Amino acid sequence: MAADASILTPATPAPPYDAARVRRDFPILATHVSGHPLVYLDSAASSQQPLAVLRAVEDYATHSHANVHRGVHALSQAATAAFEGARERVRRFIAAPSTREIVFVRGTTEAINLVAQAYARPRFGPGDEILITALEHHANIVPWQMVCEQTGCTLKVAPINRRGELLTEELEQLLSPRTRLVAIAHVSNALGTVLPVKRIVDAAHAQGAVVVVDGAQAVPHARVDVRALGADFYAFSGHKMYAPTGIGVLYAREELLGAMPPWQGGGDMIRTVSFEKSTWNELPWRFEAGTPNISGAVGLAAAMDYLEDLGIEAVAAHESRLLALATAELARLPGITLVGTAARKASVLSFTLAGVHAHDLGTILDTQGVAVRTGHHCAMPVMTFFGIPATARASFGCYNTEEDVARFIAAVARAREVFA
Ligand code: PMP
Repeated sequence: MAADASILTPATPAPPYDAARVRRDFPILATHVSGHPLVYLDSAASSQQPLAVLRAVEDYATHSHANVHRGVHALSQAATAAFEGARERVRRFIAAPSTREIVFVRGTTEAINLVAQAYARPRFGPGDEILITALEHHANIVPWQMVCEQTGCTLKVAPINRRGELLTEELEQLLSPRTRLVAIAHVSNALGTVLPVKRIVDAAHAQGAVVVVDGAQAVPHARVDVRALGADFYAFSGHKMYAPTGIGVLYAREELLGAMPPWQGGGDMIRTVSFEKSTWNELPWRFEAGTPNISGAVGLAAAMDYLEDLGIEAVAAHESRLLALATAELARLPGITLVGTAARKASVLSFTLAGVHAHDLGTILDTQGVAVRTGHHCAMPVMTFFGIPATARASFGCYNTEEDVARFIAAVARAREVFA
């Protein structure tokens, strides 16, 4: 799939995809909840891990663990090879030109904070502007508010419409030579909207601004090619793409990363230390102070292998079918309002049921073994825009089946009766 093509409607016919077989790769999906087989529809919050990932992490801990980069002994070298091998795996996965541009972080949140503190804070001042959109996750709002407080620069917000689509022309009108940085989601976690990243990157670059893309909800559902997108920074989390928690990636263009001061000091990020002055390590280690999450990186690499073996395009096409099916079935139920009906969506179905708080709805679904997320989804401004406190959100992953959709719809229908 082209980097910025619709995730919902892939250009080529989907290859056969056996979700029931995929499901068997994930031991946790055999869990029963309240006496029912689990229907897991919360992958947008955190996806489950396949045996291939669990085994890779176990294998690393069983045979190769030691601290990285500092040891001459065999295990340290094995750990370093595994960790740096994972970095190369990530580079290939997102088609980055160099491993010098791949920084391991805890997740998307840490990646965006790194850019905010090490790129924006030292450069920006009064009169400068940071432009975000109205559908961002808090992780792509609050770090920029902090930079505005620290530097005196101004935050601008591009609006969305009632379908939850970005008003791209209005975003373009907000761009000016004052805009220093544009920070946008690739896919909205609260609404599922897919943003036209390439178009925004081109418009931002034309004004001399750099672009940070929050790819947390995109990387598990589409082939992302950072070079084709032209993004200056691209952030994502392992735990939303079948890898463990506590590992994520910041891709940063080498030219920008090389000109940034370190943001955390400590071991591994230095070349020399004396009490008078310290000097910094090469990229990317300059931005990885302290012992990194080595086993997490190994797990992330295994998750990337797993996803590519399934075929990202095949997974995306399967999820799109489930989303279309669930959307049509849910919309038929009286009292349901879909929140987020953009023309281009990926994998997320947010909704409300008239007269019922989302948390109560989620609790009733849970008693039927159906796991959905309820709340503001760390996107309070989105809830404010729609004038609601919360939504229930079903989100789909590579292991969900049509049966999951049927169980979900039946559970929502049952909840309607309970609250009638
Ligand atoms: N951005 C988006 C769009 C997200 O969905 C999330 C996770 N809900 C984040 C950022 C933050 O990711 P993490 O908690 O892994 O840092």
